Amino acid sequence: MIFTILILTLLWVFQYFFLQNYYQSAKKRDMTLAAARLSASADSDDFYSAIKETAFKNAMNVKIVDEMGNELYNVNNMGSFSLLAQDKFGMKQFELIGKLEETDKATYSEIMSNSDFKVKEIVLITGLSEGDDGGKRYLIIEASIEPLDSTTKIIREQLFYISIILFELAFIVTIIISRRLSKPITELTETAKQFGAGDYEISFTASGYAEVEELSNVLEDAKDEIKKVSDLRKELIANVSHDLRTPLTMVKAYAEMIRDLSGDNPEKREEHLKVIIDESDRLSNLVNDLLAISRMESGNIELNKSEFSVVQKLADCMTRYTLLIEQEGYDIQYIPDEDRIVCADMEKIDQVIYNFINNAINYTGDEKVIRLVQKNKHGCVRIEVTDNGQGISKELLPKVFDRYYRGEKYKRDVVGTGLGLSICKEILKKHDFAFGVTSTEGVGSTFWFEMPTVNEKKHSKRLPKEKPERKVQEQKEQNTDQPKEK
Ligand code: ADP
Repeated sequence: MIFTILILTLLWVFQYFFLQNYYQSAKKRDMTLAAARLSASADSDDFYSAIKETAFKNAMNVKIVDEMGNELYNVNNMGSFSLLAQDKFGMKQFELIGKLEETDKATYSEIMSNSDFKVKEIVLITGLSEGDDGGKRYLIIEASIEPLDSTTKIIREQLFYISIILFELAFIVTIIISRRLSKPITELTETAKQFGAGDYEISFTASGYAEVEELSNVLEDAKDEIKKVSDLRKELIANVSHDLRTPLTMVKAYAEMIRDLSGDNPEKREEHLKVIIDESDRLSNLVNDLLAISRMESGNIELNKSEFSVVQKLADCMTRYTLLIEQEGYDIQYIPDEDRIVCADMEKIDQVIYNFINNAINYTGDEKVIRLVQKNKHGCVRIEVTDNGQGISKELLPKVFDRYYRGEKYKRDVVGTGLGLSICKEILKKHDFAFGVTSTEGVGSTFWFEMPTVNEKKHSKRLPKEKPERKVQEQKEQNTDQPKEK
């Protein structure tokens, strides 16, 4: 409405106050153009026919006069309205010539009026090239400024109707826009209120303007995310309470058994105590994982970065598994590449590697084959942990790094909380390292991450003199042998 009022005010102001001025200056502009055109063609053959055409088309009086103001040629298309035609001795023309000569411009124009007839005219004079006799020539154009009273009256009437139409239109458009805009927003607000009250079954489906639809889509996505987190939380509480209850029950049962039965039987007692210790480990693992993930999610992890040799690090990690290899017949091998220096938080990267290897151990197949592979690439080192287990189905693959996600058919003896991989994800994300998993069902899975290498020239001095590859190679050979020996 304000916009409409503004436009109308502008229209009224322009029509009332500036129409006359605008009309005059437009007329003068036309005349100046016509004069310029004519004077340019002054020497051509069709000069006189051009004068006639201009005079007829624009209802003007066009004259050529000599330097004394005497008329040499005249096409008067204004008839008796021409004020110059009434100027019998050419006095006015002579005066105009004088005024043109005084100015240093190409044209001179003025408004003439006759109070008797209330006639107003514009006269414009410009110089022409010399005539055949060598005398000076001038071109005078005269045109009347028609009184605009009747025109303004018509315009005013029209404006009145335009104003009414515009107001009505503005009113209708305002109502339509506000309905289309505010109705979906009100709907969204209502849905959001239900959502806020904890109803996750609602859906944001407002339509209308693109922006409203976008807002609705964003809210729908946010709802899905929140629903997912809420479901995961419920699942976690169920999982955690289950995982806490089972070891606690075991600890209690075995402690009671020691008290009542096996207290005096050292062999049985040892066995029962081992169960208690194992279950306590399980509990402490769970609590540690929960602590770690909550700390990471609240953004409270600081990376303690340092530069280290990849080969050494991975070889160190492998020592942890010597017992497993010897006693449980696992075939865990490290396949190194040429050594590289990387910069990362060593402890946290350890945690990732252990997590990947532990998962591989937990989920590998009967052959118990696990490979820790280092692959040097341009500018980075790729670490892969591959197992020959059941693999992960395509649908579940994107979920494995999610918080609290656990495969459905996990074994009870697999110590897991469903948090291991999400901790790895947080660590690798914090480092800005690429990571991922590929898996084929029935064949096995490969979990990988890539660490950018540090500029090697700069660090060449710091590289260990002894070639670590050889050491690892030896260890690798030993490892391969071990299960066979067993
Ligand atoms: P968990 O404590 O259950 O191992 P993780 O976050 O480490 O939790 O792993 C999440 C889930 O991803 C596991 O429960 C399992 O279903 C699946 N998973 C992880 N690693 C492997 C693997 N190497 N082979 C098959 N499935 C795996």
